[in-house]
Amino acid sequence: MTPPANVFVRCSCGRLHWGRHGAAGLLLSDPARGVLLQRRAWWVHHGRTWALPGGALEAGETPREAAVREAREEAAVAPGTVRTLSASVVEHGDWRYTTVVASVAGRIEERVANSESAELRWVRPDEVAGFRLHRDFAAAWPGLRAQLDRALVLVVDGANVVGSRPDGWWRDRFGAAVRLRDQLASLSVTGLPDAVVGGGAGADWTWWPRVILVVEGRARGVEPIPGVEVVDAETDGDSAIVAVTAEARSRPGDHVVVATADRELKSRVTALGATTLGPATLLAELRP
Ligand SMILES: [Zn+2]
Repeated sequence: MTPPANVFVRCSCGRLHWGRHGAAGLLLSDPARGVLLQRRAWWVHHGRTWALPGGALEAGETPREAAVREAREEAAVAPGTVRTLSASVVEHGDWRYTTVVASVAGRIEERVANSESAELRWVRPDEVAGFRLHRDFAAAWPGLRAQLDRALVLVVDGANVVGSRPDGWWRDRFGAAVRLRDQLASLSVTGLPDAVVGGGAGADWTWWPRVILVVEGRARGVEPIPGVEVVDAETDGDSAIVAVTAEARSRPGDHVVVATADRELKSRVTALGATTLGPATLLAELRP
């Protein structure tokens, strides 16, 4: 029998924490309404304070899965109506808490759905600090607030990244682009560390990027798959990448990173407010 996940952990920080495998919460943000806060029932740990829907991870569950599951169980938030953007981890060694930042991607019909929750309320970011908050959420809030509704967009210069590893791509450019596409899909699970993409959020942050692979020449016609959009360059790849970058930059809060080693392209996308990532750095983050 597996040991229960819903137990207190005696942590080296001197406190008791909830969840043998750590805990996670969902910070759901709607630009029109604010963030979804939950007042905890009187009988739970830190009862009667306001915090996020969330709870202990089950064995084998990722923090993102746990946060989305708990939001469904406690607040009736349907998993298909949220888009997870990033995560921030508070690491205690013996225990960790992950805040999963998400935006609304459908019609949210929240309601108090189980007894751990006493009340749900959409709260404007300016007003959050005025609530009686759970102390850990209160401490984390300023850092979390800075990343609300912020997405990471990763634009991949397919020809340049494919050409950076000598795996026989010159014999089959289309097949090499398909291999890269399939590897990029892993980012929708693993995410990219903030330190790698220079998102400016901090060392404790990870991003689940929107991935746009730009292909050209013989690699054109590669099909998109879940987690990876594909843009066929009509003429030259650089112009297509610049156009995709400009479009992504139209949401000013989003962080756009272009994976390329091409010097001229780097200066063109940097002028648009994007940052760049070397192919080797990107490839090191992908599953083989
Ligand atoms: Zn601790």
